[in-house]
Amino acid sequence: MDNYIVSALKYRPATFDSVVGQSTLTTTLKNAIKSNHLAHAYLFCGPRGVGKTTCARIFAKTINCEQLTPDYEACNKCESCVSFNRQRSYNIHELDAASNNGVDDIRRLIEQVRIPPQIGKYSVYIIDEVHMLSSGAFNAFLKTLEEPPAYAIFILATTEKHKILPTILSRCQIYDFNRISVTDTVNHLKSVAQKEGVTVDDSALNVIAQKSDGGMRDALSVFDQLVSFCGNRITYQDAIRNLNVLDYDYYFRLTDAFMAGELTESLLIFNEILNKGFDGHHFITGLSSHFRDLLVSRDEKTVVLLEVGADITQKYKSQAKKCSDKFLFQALKIANDCDLNYRISKNKRLLVELALVRISQLSDEKKKDLTAPDAKNPLKKFDTPADPPPSAIENAGATPKENKPDRAGQETQINRQSTPKYNKRPESVSISVGLENKNRNISERKNEESAAATAGNAKPSVACSEADVVRAWNAFAEKLPIEKTGFSSFMLNNPPVNISGTSYEVAVSNVMQERELKLTLQEILSHIHRNVGNNQITVLIKLLEKTEIKRTLTPEEQFRKMAEKNPSLSKLQSDLNLEID
Ligand SMILES: [Zn+2]
Repeated sequence: MDNYIVSALKYRPATFDSVVGQSTLTTTLKNAIKSNHLAHAYLFCGPRGVGKTTCARIFAKTINCEQLTPDYEACNKCESCVSFNRQRSYNIHELDAASNNGVDDIRRLIEQVRIPPQIGKYSVYIIDEVHMLSSGAFNAFLKTLEEPPAYAIFILATTEKHKILPTILSRCQIYDFNRISVTDTVNHLKSVAQKEGVTVDDSALNVIAQKSDGGMRDALSVFDQLVSFCGNRITYQDAIRNLNVLDYDYYFRLTDAFMAGELTESLLIFNEILNKGFDGHHFITGLSSHFRDLLVSRDEKTVVLLEVGADITQKYKSQAKKCSDKFLFQALKIANDCDLNYRISKNKRLLVELALVRISQLSDEKKKDLTAPDAKNPLKKFDTPADPPPSAIENAGATPKENKPDRAGQETQINRQSTPKYNKRPESVSISVGLENKNRNISERKNEESAAATAGNAKPSVACSEADVVRAWNAFAEKLPIEKTGFSSFMLNNPPVNISGTSYEVAVSNVMQERELKLTLQEILSHIHRNVGNNQITVLIKLLEKTEIKRTLTPEEQFRKMAEKNPSLSKLQSDLNLEID
């Protein structure tokens, strides 16, 4: 892991423009410098390794630069810039609150703040992992943050925004850093590899980018790790072997087997995967992703949603041509159901195998279906829910254990046709409604969801139903760690409600809920996208106005309400000249 420091440090960006994947944010910072509208305190939030500290350092350097470029970047030549780049500048002070979180540490920092900078205009104080400060330290710091000297600028960085006290939040300009996209990560790694003289397959870079989940520091670290294992030539095989990733080739082979209706072949491939030590759940989520990737590869417009290297894109495109939309949609549905039931299943292997059986049987249907994609809009077929192939239901009878789920599936299909539109959405979400949900047991909810799924599919250009989205939402909530129980039950009580098309809305009743949800939303969305196979789903957070939340009525209102039901009360009031208070 020694090399890790090498790449992460060596390729640390020196200007805003070279920061990867945060262009909106760096542009805003540059504009602030341009218009000379600097705040005294900034809060940089976001997952680890996405460039918070790096941006803080660039910002500190840029506002102290003596000769800004016309583009408002640091010149990297003047005395101030040079001392910054050599990490010798006296204008920047960094405190890692993870290890220095006491009152004394903050007091020392405050002492420093009193001293004006000798060279340059600003002294910048970066406090990393600021949420780790003790409450005493927080309070000591608050006074300085309220009345900072003109030359002092604070940049607070945190991975856990919800732990920051509102008193601090309200005094900071807040910047939310995104996870870095796979494409951005791959491109950056590619340039690093080039500079280091390492030859590396695009597909290997892709595996690294996906494995690092949006963090550039992690991506560089994984890259260095691979270089130390493999030397100057990294292949896709090296990458998956060292990073314990399941080869996408299995999924291509499996899909070929499905298309050919070769059930035994698909079961053998699954066995091979288990023998390699991969877990069944990992396998089935990968299979869902594969179908999803094939689906988006069927149209030039959606092929951009494929987050793989150019060489594999071709492979996806050619396999996608062999599958029909209907097949992919049904297969995705089966794989996704298997994924959702995996955790509660007692015989997990059988559950996966059953899914493979069902997908294999889809190919009979496929032969009747023309395989040519609908050139204009391959997604439009999903408006109408796919019928299960009759063979799947008939054949299921042969395997006793399969009987039940398929019967249920059959019923669902019938309902689907008789219920044209799902109109059960509540007009407003109130807290009291939420509490009832809590006590429902899982099976009840399941029933209701499948009923919703029956009808929810009638919306135009939506590839998945509201029930699918809610199910994915609930699954995320249920997987949250124990310390997030509060948030988990908040999620379960406030499922997203479809507004139109792929837009959903979640009502929250206070800013604390809003903040917490905002922090996790990206993660929840990726989970939903993966699970329903639709990257278009968006969730808006709606902060309910006070009037929308059921509140206690004032005595006067109570009276008026009663009087509505019983008009003689009004008469009584006026006759006796009563005052209500
Ligand atoms: Zn400069």
